Amino acid sequence: MYFTLLADVAQKERRKFKSMIDSMRDAVFMVDEDYKFLIANPAIKEMLGLHEAETVNIVRVSSFFSTRLSIEDVISEVFALGKIKVVDDLPINDRYYFLTAIPVKVRESVVGVVCLIQDQTSEKELEKMRRDFSAMIIHELRSPLSVIRGTSDFLMKESKSLDEPQKESFLSQIKDSSDRLLKLVNDLLDSAKIESGNVELFKSEVDVNALVTEVVDYYAKSADQKKIRLLANVDKSLLPMQADSDKIRQVLNNLISNGLKYTEEGGEVVVSTKKEDGSMRILISDTGRGIEESHKELIFQKYKQVEYAKNTEKSTGLGLAISKGIVEAHDGKIWVEENLPKGSVFIVELPL
Ligand code: ADP
Repeated sequence: MYFTLLADVAQKERRKFKSMIDSMRDAVFMVDEDYKFLIANPAIKEMLGLHEAETVNIVRVSSFFSTRLSIEDVISEVFALGKIKVVDDLPINDRYYFLTAIPVKVRESVVGVVCLIQDQTSEKELEKMRRDFSAMIIHELRSPLSVIRGTSDFLMKESKSLDEPQKESFLSQIKDSSDRLLKLVNDLLDSAKIESGNVELFKSEVDVNALVTEVVDYYAKSADQKKIRLLANVDKSLLPMQADSDKIRQVLNNLISNGLKYTEEGGEVVVSTKKEDGSMRILISDTGRGIEESHKELIFQKYKQVEYAKNTEKSTGLGLAISKGIVEAHDGKIWVEENLPKGSVFIVELPL
């Protein structure tokens, strides 16, 4: 009676254990000293490209690792030493794997080895993107700093031989570079806050139409200089709403300045507001170069954008990532659509 009960419990435990191993995303197998497979979960079959009915054996695993690693040697070593062995950074077929081999002991002697193989490709990719991003930021910090240092040195040494307009031109170079530096540092701080989920909103009653008009007025001069028509087209039925006005202004600044930056002479940028059912939209449309379909989501992502920007122009790509963070902190959405026949429309939707 007790024996059947015990067997029942053992059976139940085994089933629990099997379903746990089977549901794992990581590949797991266990072998004995002769490399005979005692356990192999579906993930290892998938990794090896085997059908469900095919069996996993040491030859198949060994050929998967090919020249990168001798799985037999790893298993033998764990049997001999009775210690966990970890092999990091295994590049196989454009992917990265991480192997952990664990001894299974019964009364101090090793009776089997469990191998856990984790696919770490996406972690590696993120790590690389972070590294590329840091390299790009350091470069972006260094270039305006070099201008400030070089120009101020020159001004100090040659001040007597320069006339007033020359001096003014050098000073304005210093000012532009300092502005660029300050913007970059502020953007970095903002994006770090967004990444850590620490966007603090200071909400008050905001008249979005007035805010749009104010920001459009602010950019009127630079639009004029670029010979771009910049217009505001607001929906009068829109009532003031609860929002963080400084942060919404920051989003508008980013989207309008991008619109002007990526639109050629003679083009048009229109900022409109629109009341919807339970929400409102701010639309920033331009007649610029537009955004390829495959980049429409990428441009809002902090690290991914670096890859894209590398192939386009100098861009830290922080602006849209920050705008997305701000809009989402307001429980809103931001996306980009085509502005037919030419250009793009950035749409910010905020709940009312
Ligand atoms: P940055 O401030 O460095 O331009 P953003 O995050 O604001 O970075 O923009 C990311 C990228 O999206 C830009 O590098 C640009 O390639 C693209 N982009 C943004 N706005 C527009 C637009 N209105 N038209 C075309 N491309 C745009």
